[in-house]
Amino acid sequence: MREVFLPQRIEELWEILKREPETEIYAGGTDLLVKMRSGQVNPPSLVCLERIESLRGVFDKGKEVFIGACSTHSNLLEDPVIRKEFPGLARGIDVLGSPPIRHMGTIGGNIVTASPAGDTLPSLYVLDAEVEVHSKAQKRRLPLRDFILGPGMVALHPQEVLWGIWLKKQPSWNVHHYEKVGRRKALACSIASMAALLELSESGTVVKARLAWGSVGPTILSFSHVDNNLIGQLLSIETLSSLAKQVELSVSPIDDLRASAEYRRTVSGLLLLRLLYYSPSFRQECDS
Ligand SMILES: Cc1cc2nc3c(=O)[nH]c(=O)nc-3n(C[C@H](O)[C@H](O)[C@H](O)COP(=O)(O)OP(=O)(O)OC[C@H]3O[C@@H](n4cnc5c(N)ncnc54)[C@H](O)[C@@H]3O)c2cc1C
Repeated sequence: MREVFLPQRIEELWEILKREPETEIYAGGTDLLVKMRSGQVNPPSLVCLERIESLRGVFDKGKEVFIGACSTHSNLLEDPVIRKEFPGLARGIDVLGSPPIRHMGTIGGNIVTASPAGDTLPSLYVLDAEVEVHSKAQKRRLPLRDFILGPGMVALHPQEVLWGIWLKKQPSWNVHHYEKVGRRKALACSIASMAALLELSESGTVVKARLAWGSVGPTILSFSHVDNNLIGQLLSIETLSSLAKQVELSVSPIDDLRASAEYRRTVSGLLLLRLLYYSPSFRQECDS
């Protein structure tokens, strides 16, 4: 019989983690319980974070926003600060799994799972998210890009938990985009995904750009040459098509059950063409 601990206070959690060093933490269980059922992991006991109030919530701290690691995807979708300040992240959550998965799954679980297909991750990368990690003895804050080490690998030490995520508000960035391509429209893991954060001038010239791709490498990928080559350009079909070629050459996808590497490569470039939609002249043409 496997024991399941349900601490309500953080002090209880530290005690359990000290007493049961082999225990496995879970929040919504939508990743961990699937892995246990398929025999990929077999922990001797489990500790559930769900009842610890201090690990949940969205806190507006002025220039920054703090998201508790155990906030569920549904909690975040309902949150006005997330919707207003980080619409690209909200879009990623909106297309993650299905309503039951979004009710149970948490942003912290999505990060620690560190899947290249994680739907919150490309937006968190372009937002330059930082994570806060706690143990009984200390806290530390580090960039998400340094926290995620590879597929399923994060920089968590024994007896540490992911406490939350820090996001800087991005008032000057006026395009927040996320799109994923899956085998179906709903309840589909991404074959390729792309998040974009852009600052466009009134005439539609790119002033600042940060882009990131999911499912086309071992972790989320971004390419400074692609970001830089977009700066100073209008979002035209010519510019985006030429950059799409650079993206296709830069990604490092694999073949798997969901798609071939070649298909992923093509889709990752095509996702960039979607940015055309934000071009003022393209929109005018569509409206007329
Ligand atoms: C049917 C189905 C569809 C899905 N569809 C998608 C999808 O479209 N897109 C997508 O991105 N994901 C999808 N997922 C995966 C999953 O739902 C998400 O990754 C979810 O965010 C995981 O959160 P969780 O709280 O359930 O994680 P859990 O299963 O509770 O935990 C996952 C891992 O994170 C660790 N962990 C969790 N919280 C913490 C913490 N605070 N500190 C330290 N470690 C922690 C656990 O130890 C475990 O290793 C799907 C899953 C299922 C079953």
